[in-house]
Amino acid sequence: MPQFIDTAKITVKAGDGGNGAVSFHREKYVAAGGPDGGDGGRGGDIILQVDDHMSTLMDFRYKRKYTAAPGADGGGKRCSGRDGEGLMIQVPRGTVVRDAASGEIIRDMSSDEPFVLARGGNGGWGNKHFATPTRQAPRFAKAGLPGQSREVVLELKLLADVGLVGFPNVGKSTLLSVASKARPKIANYHFTTLFPNLGVVYVDEGVSFVMADIPGIIEGASEGAGLGHDFLRHIDRCRLLIHIVDISGCEGRDPIADFEAINEELRRYSPALAGRKMIVAGNKADIAADRTALDALRAHVEGQGFPFFELSAATQQGTQELLRAAAHMIAELPPVVVYEPTYTPKPPEVDTTAPLTITREDDTWLVEGAWLQKIMANVNFGDYESRNWFEKMLRNAGLYDRLEELGIQDGDTVSLYNLEFEYRR
Ligand code: GDP
Ligand code: MG
Repeated sequence: MPQFIDTAKITVKAGDGGNGAVSFHREKYVAAGGPDGGDGGRGGDIILQVDDHMSTLMDFRYKRKYTAAPGADGGGKRCSGRDGEGLMIQVPRGTVVRDAASGEIIRDMSSDEPFVLARGGNGGWGNKHFATPTRQAPRFAKAGLPGQSREVVLELKLLADVGLVGFPNVGKSTLLSVASKARPKIANYHFTTLFPNLGVVYVDEGVSFVMADIPGIIEGASEGAGLGHDFLRHIDRCRLLIHIVDISGCEGRDPIADFEAINEELRRYSPALAGRKMIVAGNKADIAADRTALDALRAHVEGQGFPFFELSAATQQGTQELLRAAAHMIAELPPVVVYEPTYTPKPPEVDTTAPLTITREDDTWLVEGAWLQKIMANVNFGDYESRNWFEKMLRNAGLYDRLEELGIQDGDTVSLYNLEFEYRR
């Protein structure tokens, strides 16, 4: 049996920025040309985008590493390096992206808006950037910054109003197929549904909802026996559940016991899901040998406060009433949940005791080092708090003390990759 994939761990790495160039203008009869080294290109981003043709995370089973192209190095004659191409990763709608280490939600891919999961590194400046009236021949350029890399977990949580639950073979796929244009696989054996199917159900003019047929739940499923949790995860954000019970007696099943077993699975998986609004449908009424089982189930279900419908999905008897009732209930319910991000960006772990290289060029102090480069690729300099944090980190790492020792003066320039500032004690 093919394994159903609705969660996947992937690593992504955005492109590194290209390096800036050191070059001087050369022309016949011109003795000393000015600096004309171009900037490195920006590395490509890793971008996520919803693709409605995808219904599972199957594609991520074999391909787990995604890398965007680096920016090219700058050249002479003011030539900038080409930007690296971004990499677009398609995901099914409703994919929740979490930080693999902390489990925090980075993004809920529910809308069509693309999301930059990892930013490409900025290209380094070429020496043309560093010419000043007092420094006409800068012999240095900057290295590009590395692209961000992240490890994330993708998790599929369908965006459906209604989730169908029930034992395998009770008629969930049949109901979806008669209620919508979706064409799920229907067969008279257990576990036919290996992928969730979504269908739009049109009830009346202007009244419709999205219904999801999820793969069958089996007993003990919530404890990880077989197909359990994976399937329940999908319907986490459904607003309403339609619980289908086979009342035909064909398989020698007890409808009340089935109903309770599924509810128990829901409770074990998530009390929130078990507490969701629910409609119960006794299906296969067309071939029910006698009505005793049906009536007993109705009494049992209504006794617990759930609306109950008698149904024959195959012959479409009772389907309209059921779907109308569902539409009615949904109209009163809050919209489908979109998960808010809970992730707070963390600076990469680096060893700030590793020495930095400091080079002096006139009144400019060039500071370089692998850990600094890595940190700078991850700091959002547009954000005040991040800038403060960065400043403090440099201080704690002893950078300013070292610059002082080396004789830096007020008004000199400190140059960290593509960040420059005037030194003030
Ligand atoms: P699922 O596993 O819950 O999705 O069940 P399916 O929709 O695949 O149906 C399982 C079997 O029951 C199929 O052979 C269907 O044709 C049959 N079935 C579904 N609904 C009805 C019904 O209302 N009456 C009868 N007689 N058979 C049905
Ligand atoms: Mg099915």
